[in-house]
Amino acid sequence: MKLSKFILLSVFCICFFCTEIFAQDFEDIKRYRVNFGLATRANEQLIALRSFSASNQKYLLLINPETLDTKVDLASRYSTRGLQYSNVLAIFKNTVYIKSLEAAAAKDLQLQNAGIDHAIPNEKGITLTIDLCPSHKALDRIIFQSVFDEFKRTEQPAPLAVSVSGKWMLKHQDDLNWLKSLVKNKELDITWVNHTYNHEVNKLPLAENFLLAPGTNLDVEVLENEKLMLKNGLTPSVFFRFPGLVSDKKIVERIEAYGLIPIGSDAWLAKGQQPNAGSIVLIHGNGNEEIGVKDFIQLLKTKETDVKNKQWLLFDLRQGLEKEFE
Ligand SMILES: [Zn+2]
Repeated sequence: MKLSKFILLSVFCICFFCTEIFAQDFEDIKRYRVNFGLATRANEQLIALRSFSASNQKYLLLINPETLDTKVDLASRYSTRGLQYSNVLAIFKNTVYIKSLEAAAAKDLQLQNAGIDHAIPNEKGITLTIDLCPSHKALDRIIFQSVFDEFKRTEQPAPLAVSVSGKWMLKHQDDLNWLKSLVKNKELDITWVNHTYNHEVNKLPLAENFLLAPGTNLDVEVLENEKLMLKNGLTPSVFFRFPGLVSDKKIVERIEAYGLIPIGSDAWLAKGQQPNAGSIVLIHGNGNEEIGVKDFIQLLKTKETDVKNKQWLLFDLRQGLEKEFE
């Protein structure tokens, strides 16, 4: 075999091997920890948020502090230096990431809708977020199909965020696989948002409900859900959505200490809130919010011409914050 052919074949094998590594499933995750650190490789400087082991390899969940993109990668590919959360805040204070955390914390006094609730000021369009709280009903596939149909000529893949709860994922494997196939086929670009593992809801007032319910174990709600996301082939984003959009100052601080940015909504359609330019729109896609879904389909219809003329777009949550804080 000629040398050049041999090199080409070797490169092919290495590349194939690499993709194999990253196509690997995280069926058996061990030692999943909050582990902040500076992770550098060549000219890439990232922040490690989590570390874990799977199949005897050590992995990191990493974030790019300027683009807010997250990825899972082998720890051995980076030189790392451990950091306290307070160091992360100080060292990266001028980045989009820390500015977003600060903006989200600045709105933490209210009992509902803390966090960032308006992505991009004065832009023609919205950021769409779809919550998948635990449900016995099937996914409202019509939402996703409508977004694809409406935007395929102007934005493909169309960006949207899906907030997943653990209990939804466990019960709706077919629907989850269908969503993943839309991403794989580049029909939609989904940002996966942590919406807690159990998503408890009780009959108590809001101050003692959802994550504020007595006995809530935040490690289970946040970290077990991330593990389940990884097991299902979803890369957790840096975003977090409070169940019921309910929180208090203390719990916002605790969620941010996991390195996560709480995302609220200024246009929960089923509650009659109208979206305006740059709104973060919330609808539930878990079969329990008929009105919200109907309102959204209606909204798409009224914007049909604007969409065609690129006067009404869907914005990616990450890019929206990047635009606002860079
Ligand atoms: Zn929910």
